Amino acid sequence: MTVLSVQHLSKKYGSITALRDVSFEVPAGTVFGILGPNGSGKTTLLGIVLDVLKATGGMFRLFGESPTHVHRQKIGALLETPNFYHYLSGRKNLEVVASIKGKGEGDIEGVLKRVNLYDRRDSAFSTYSLGMKQRLAIASSLLGSPEVLVLDEPTNGLDPVGIAEIRELIKSLSREGKTIIMASHLLDEVEKVCTHMALLKKGELLTTGKVTDILAQGDIVEVKGNARDILSAYPGVTKITTEDDLLQVYFDATGVSLKNINEYCFSKGVVLEHLTLKRKSLEARFLELTQN
Ligand code: ATP
Repeated sequence: MTVLSVQHLSKKYGSITALRDVSFEVPAGTVFGILGPNGSGKTTLLGIVLDVLKATGGMFRLFGESPTHVHRQKIGALLETPNFYHYLSGRKNLEVVASIKGKGEGDIEGVLKRVNLYDRRDSAFSTYSLGMKQRLAIASSLLGSPEVLVLDEPTNGLDPVGIAEIRELIKSLSREGKTIIMASHLLDEVEKVCTHMALLKKGELLTTGKVTDILAQGDIVEVKGNARDILSAYPGVTKITTEDDLLQVYFDATGVSLKNINEYCFSKGVVLEHLTLKRKSLEARFLELTQN
């Protein structure tokens, strides 16, 4: 089942184009990362899906249907940190949120346990660490037991311990069957937490799919010898560049056999002086994707 299907979505703020013809699908049960640098349109996209903003063009569907408030009832969202009352406890704050939302009054104890704040439920919000505040925010989005969670930069501003707590929480919510759609500008975060992703740059979709497929780094083989022409015909080679006097041979996948390459070159009458496998970092792959 598809939870969210975005079709040719565009959004302009006056002369600024925040989204341009963006299309992708979020399958149920995934942790779906919307990845992009600052200003790439992530928040705008989530705002449209949550009906806070109107699209200028295109459309989207929720659970395969035209979106209505019935579909939105199944979505818990955290677009920005809610304005909790500092002098009230975590539990009291959730009571306030539940009464404003008109749902989830019976869930408060459960969600406090779920985000590991039950022991501190009666402490004032002002005494919480940043990570605890963010976990309370996630608890508030869990009120009413939504099937889907939409989180905008859920680890922003947290220290490494807080970040790890939130990432673990997202993964465990996913294991319970919730679909999670989260915006992030951190490649590392998307790689660690998400199963699927859409990559945005300046409002345009660069690629979408499984994280492992998108970030799969093809091998790079470094070669010395007069082999440029023959290697450009070798299976799986996508491009060849020259660095100093070494050829950098890019493959579309990993698992390339150096032995086979060596034998192939030899069979074509070329003896290689140098042949090694280089690995590409994910950062390099990401830069490659966002620069193209
Ligand atoms: P960030 O990670 O910095 O929040 P983002 O990827 O979420 O960035 P958006 O906040 O959606 O990106 O912004 C996309 C573009 O639209 C940016 O150029 C931004 O300046 C512009 N923009 C966003 N909101 C408005 C607005 N209300 N009025 C005018 N321009 C806006």
